[in-house]
Amino acid sequence: MVTMYYNQDINESILEGKKIAVIGYGSQGHAHALNLKESGFDVRIGIRPGGSADRAKNDGLVVKTVAEAAKEADVIMVLLPDEKQKEVYEAEIKDGLVAGNALVFAHGFNIHYQQIVPPADVDVFLIAPKGPGHLVRRTYQNGAGVPALIAIYQDATGQAKDLALAWAKGVGAARAGVLETTFKEETETDLFGEQAVLCGGAVELVKAGFETLVEAGYQPEIAYFECFHELKLIVDLMYEGGIDNMNYSISDTAEWGEYVSGPRVVTAASKAAMKDVLTDIQNGKFAKEWIAENENDRPQYSVKKQAVRDHQIEEVGAKLREMMPFVGQKVNKEAVTK
Ligand code: NAD
Ligand code: MG
Ligand code: MG
Ligand code: MG
Ligand code: MG
Ligand code: MG
Repeated sequence: MVTMYYNQDINESILEGKKIAVIGYGSQGHAHALNLKESGFDVRIGIRPGGSADRAKNDGLVVKTVAEAAKEADVIMVLLPDEKQKEVYEAEIKDGLVAGNALVFAHGFNIHYQQIVPPADVDVFLIAPKGPGHLVRRTYQNGAGVPALIAIYQDATGQAKDLALAWAKGVGAARAGVLETTFKEETETDLFGEQAVLCGGAVELVKAGFETLVEAGYQPEIAYFECFHELKLIVDLMYEGGIDNMNYSISDTAEWGEYVSGPRVVTAASKAAMKDVLTDIQNGKFAKEWIAENENDRPQYSVKKQAVRDHQIEEVGAKLREMMPFVGQKVNKEAVTK
């Protein structure tokens, strides 16, 4: 069994009195900054002028330029989009680092794929919440937390792990549990999970199911409820008590259908495809292509994003969700500019 760290295992005093800079004020940035501030730590935001900066000011935070914040802080957490980190690091963060500082990430991409090569005399670690930033914030406010991974890449001061754990406690993650990993494991498993299962896999599964019903002449609204809306309810039951807990709640007919038809849809070929996806993550092919896509101003990204927006399932879903306000909070896009 892996070692888990919880609040009672962590002494956060190592982070007290340290100047903390959170660079970026998006999904993760706002959550880390506000949670740490409310946990009593000395936080400032490093951000370019614009929507995120205004929001951070409105939220009562001290706002500086990236270079100012990075320079004055002892612990610098980089919560910029992964694809922007290299450029901003080179231009505005690097020169602010002095021996004994800590450079921190929420995902290992730029360190693992050597886009950022920090000086040897700073601590480098990550604290990666295993959930969207808005839930890192919301769960903290509700007295709970999102679990997190920590990993140490460089331990120049001998204190990197204690700092990482203190940060995890400060953002509420140690209420849910903190596990130690490596940059390699965090980066590769995070990319794999989001590509094969959570985002890529789930979206394609839902779209294919919806299309199959609609192409067979069934009403799109019914297809939406069957293949999209209900997924959340089913996943909640799995999340709360495992697959068997979900099976207990569904009919035996549904459960039998799961056993006989699930493996016809997600087949040995699907698993072989997952292994290919993992190989491309491990050998750097995925990273290389994503970096190139960004260098070319995202030609394919934009086309694919528009195709999702134009899909019938999004139109039908938007109308149906309007009639179900109880479905809950949408992530507030106004509150988080990309
Ligand atoms: P985001 O896109 O939501 O926010 C990025 C922030 O950076 C915004 O405030 C934006 O205004 C700012 N920014 C962008 N370019 C900038 C520039 N050139 N100079 C200054 N500021 C700039 O990002 P995010 O999704 O919170 O991701 C941040 C990090 O957290 C990434 O490493 C990501 O992999 C990691 N992460 C994210 C999530 C998540 O929930 N989104 C979960 C786990 C880990
Ligand atoms: Mg995002
Ligand atoms: Mg993730
Ligand atoms: Mg990720
Ligand atoms: Mg049903
Ligand atoms: Mg049952």
